[in-house]
Amino acid sequence: MPAMELIKFLQQQGLGSRKRCRQLIDDQRVEIDGEVMLDPRRAVVPAQIGQLHIDGEAHEVLPFPLYVLLHKPGDYEVSHQPSHYPSVFTLLPAAMQQAGLTAVGRLDADTTGLLLLTTDGQFVHALTSPRRHVPKRYRVTVKHAIEPEMVAKLQSGVILKDDSEPVWADEISVRDSHILALTISEGRYHQVKRMVAAAGNRVEALHREALGTLELGSLAEGKWRYLSAEERQALG
Ligand code: URA
Repeated sequence: MPAMELIKFLQQQGLGSRKRCRQLIDDQRVEIDGEVMLDPRRAVVPAQIGQLHIDGEAHEVLPFPLYVLLHKPGDYEVSHQPSHYPSVFTLLPAAMQQAGLTAVGRLDADTTGLLLLTTDGQFVHALTSPRRHVPKRYRVTVKHAIEPEMVAKLQSGVILKDDSEPVWADEISVRDSHILALTISEGRYHQVKRMVAAAGNRVEALHREALGTLELGSLAEGKWRYLSAEERQALG
């Protein structure tokens, strides 16, 4: 099991900057499994740590790397520095907000649904790489009734404004007169909204249901959970 410096471990636990974590240790405020920590460079094995206390208060030990599935509500921004709405990160416990999480692809502020967050930079890179073609399934509610021509256009490919190459849906199923499920495997800016516009309709509501093998399932809006080891592995 890999060991790491105590100070790095505290940073990963969302306890703040290196400077602040050093100060916590210098002030003898950090206790691990009943022992007050005195040496910032001491090697610790995160997987073997049972209890972490700061100022005598229990602090849940966060797994590392973190893989978190969040059901994003509308009117939240996928950004650490939001401009109009609160950040999605505020929906997580305080320590997790400081743990260096990044979103695996973005969703617009008004889009709801599956958002994957992680501290594993290589994982983000692998899943968002244009070469990987990870499928993303959206439930799309449109303004005008869905006509066969619109579906045909999305299937055969549409040219987005300011783009030269066509983009198309990998899969489409019409769920009712104004709702369809659409799977795309690229991640261009506002891609679904622009595709639907190019096919002559308009997106009224957008909800991501699945990313690769990962399904949002019954997770309630605004709630989060850790990915299981199997879910993590299945994403590659
Ligand atoms: N496509 C969009 O247009 N918006 C999203 O949030 C995601 C995909």
